[in-house]
Amino acid sequence: MNPDPSCVFCRIVRGEAPAHVLAENEHALAFLDIHPLVDGHALIIPKAHYVTLEDVPPELVGPLFELVQRVSRAQRRALGAEATTIGINNGRAAGQVVPHLHVHVLPRYTGDGGGLIHSIIQRPSQRGLDEVRDLLVKALGG
Ligand SMILES: [Zn+2]
Repeated sequence: MNPDPSCVFCRIVRGEAPAHVLAENEHALAFLDIHPLVDGHALIIPKAHYVTLEDVPPELVGPLFELVQRVSRAQRRALGAEATTIGINNGRAAGQVVPHLHVHVLPRYTGDGGGLIHSIIQRPSQRGLDEVRDLLVKALGG
């Protein structure tokens, strides 16, 4: 997609807005979150403007996550992270604030008080696993 002139992440890609850039490849850019939840909290974005992961062409998903992997590895090596949490607020209802896809990579430490991915949502199951699997398999074209 074409750059959105009002998008702050597109402006970072174009060098028009400041950022603490960590690394890049042909299709993706990694930089520090301006409001870090922990030292090293990084964002990895596609250089082109896509809102959600589903919008990204399949051939660009690999380069995006190659950079996620490199940053996660660097957080362990340079910051002593024992683990990382990797997540995407993929759409407004999931809490996405900047409408340009970004993957959060957070260094984690034993006893850091952070939650699990499982703590994000606590909605009681309303359908059985068989029904949900059937719906998703059908949507996946299986
Ligand atoms: Zn953008």
